[in-house]
Amino acid sequence: MKYLLCFLFMFLSLTGCMNEAELKALSKKNNHYNDSTSLNVLYSKKSEFAIVVHGGAGTILKENMSPEKEAGYKAKLEEAIRIGYNILKDGGSSLDAVQKTINVLEDSPLFNAGKGAVFTNAETNELDASIMDGKTLNAGASAGTTTVKNPIDLARAIMESSPHVMLSGEGAEVFAQEQGLEVVGSDYFFTQSRYESLKNAKENEKKKVANNKTALFDSSIKDSKFGTVGCVALDKNGNLAAGTSTGGMTNKRRGRIGDSPIIGAGTYANNNTCAVSSTGSGEYFIRGMVAYDISVLMEYKGLSLKDAANEVIQNKLPSIGDGAGNGGIIALDKYGNLVMEFNTAGMYRASMNDKGELFIGIYKD
Ligand code: ASP
Repeated sequence: MKYLLCFLFMFLSLTGCMNEAELKALSKKNNHYNDSTSLNVLYSKKSEFAIVVHGGAGTILKENMSPEKEAGYKAKLEEAIRIGYNILKDGGSSLDAVQKTINVLEDSPLFNAGKGAVFTNAETNELDASIMDGKTLNAGASAGTTTVKNPIDLARAIMESSPHVMLSGEGAEVFAQEQGLEVVGSDYFFTQSRYESLKNAKENEKKKVANNKTALFDSSIKDSKFGTVGCVALDKNGNLAAGTSTGGMTNKRRGRIGDSPIIGAGTYANNNTCAVSSTGSGEYFIRGMVAYDISVLMEYKGLSLKDAANEVIQNKLPSIGDGAGNGGIIALDKYGNLVMEFNTAGMYRASMNDKGELFIGIYKD
């Protein structure tokens, strides 16, 4: 029956002899997809390969951003995404594209990952990262490292060269050294602006300012945001991958681990559904299993990526706990349909498709 239905869809897509409503009725009758399923998702390939990147969501308002600052963010996003795009264009893997794109953002002090990571309440920088291969469902994650220059490289090494999914703290650092990854002194991660963000958060804590649980307050743009970085990619072989890297939340308690290294919360990839990378208030993303939730809405309920992401980010996430579930995701499905969904004022984001079309956005519209 399944094969017959597949054949029927292929035939219909070629002949175009049924309209959208008829096709949906047919798929519904056979209990495969519900009303919100986009027909594009059923059989049309949007892009042979594609890549999407984020540099964090938050209260990012145009009126608080200088033209120079905005240009700086856009240039870095473009530099990063073009690295991944070229890997995909040359037939490289989605995993390589995700890792190398994230490396550029980790090395930039503009984002809360690698150089530019925020500070804990103990004035340390503790970094989290994860990566997932949609083809094999293999995954790697590192949490709370303080000396590994590019935590996404460590996450990939854990995935490929260890029997484990996640390593944390000192053990993760020993493993990184064994793997020959670049290790730096903890002063490498120091940036004055992030240090000032910590002081600011501590002041607010003393004054008992409500809603002080922000990832970082960037005094240079007067906005609070989550500066985590992430990337999702689809390669020419139809394989999806996702990765996320972060310094976490400013003034987080030492030892706190957020959603970014949690497979299913901060990162998820499955060739049958989608690849997702999250940014936002990690505690809520963990409780909502945000990335996996989007994937299973597609898998079990037949929702399109667009509808699944909208449901999770706009309805489910804000309804958890005291309603402080802020943030967003980027995602791609196996057809190259992409989504950049957020419930904050802005999200640093960029995408490229197989035609080389580049989109860069910061604010909502
Ligand atoms: N999700 C990250 C965390 O909670 C923060 C961020 O997105 O910037 O650690």
